[in-house]
This record gives sequence, structure tokens and C-alpha cells, in this order.
Amino acid sequence: MKNIRTGSCNCGSVTYEVHCEFDSVLNCHCGACLHRHGHFGAYVRVPFEAMVINETPHMKWWHSASTSEDHGFCDTCGAALFAHAEYEREVIYFTPGTLDNYDNLTTTSHYCLDEKPSYYEVQNDLPHLDYITEKNRRDRGEQGC
Ligand SMILES: [Zn+2]
Ligand SMILES: [Zn+2]
Repeated sequence: MKNIRTGSCNCGSVTYEVHCEFDSVLNCHCGACLHRHGHFGAYVRVPFEAMVINETPHMKWWHSASTSEDHGFCDTCGAALFAHAEYEREVIYFTPGTLDNYDNLTTTSHYCLDEKPSYYEVQNDLPHLDYITEKNRRDRGEQGC
């Protein structure tokens, strides 16, 4: 049976389903994520076609010209839910904190640590990567979801 996991924003106006297996969480410490999330951004990367967003009038997208990404959020409670980059349309990132359950998830990597503020530390036994782009992943020979 196909594995489907569900999630929602804080107020429940926006819900989604993920129709694929996933287990890896990445933390991005770039300035854009810090300002969007209020702290580092935790994301799960899945194929775009595996994500079913139940579009409602409260589901909004903000385009960040500086990062060439579209960010999906709830305009009622302000929850940050999705990131969809112009340079890798075939995947979408979602925030694992918005899942309905957190089973079988592990933080596997950190991005943009050069932009991390000094007020918190990270686990140093995980890979530290430069930037979330498909090109960088391909350059390193990494596999997607
Ligand atoms: Zn909401
Ligand atoms: Zn970031």
C-alpha cells in the first residue's frame, strides 16, 4: 500500500498529503530561512508530483527574488509550509514540523552554516553543505528522494 503522510498549518486552514517515502530532514541556516522561520529552517525534500497541497484561499505563495524561490504559507496563522525553487521545479521542500506525526524522521544535514548566527550551535557530526540546489547535489553525486 502506498505510504501517504499528512500535515497542516497551525490553524488547519492549509493541509497537505505527501505520497512518497521520506526520512531525511535538512536544516538550513541561511539568512533567508532565519527571517522566514524565526530560526533555522528545517525541510524535507520530496518530488513535486508526490506533494498534494489542498489549496484553499488561505494558501499563499510569496516569491523571493533574492533566492529565486516560492514560499508557501498560511495567510491566517502565518505558518511556513513549503519552498519551491525556480532552479529545481521537480522537487518541493516542506517543513517537517507541520506533519501530523514525526515518526521515522532524522536530521541528516546542515546547509549554509557560514550564515549561522552565533546564538546557537549545531551537531557537528552531520554533513555541512553549502547551499540547497539541485546543481550542488548533482555536483556531489547525491541522490534525490
Ligand atoms: Zn493556518
Ligand atoms: Zn535557507
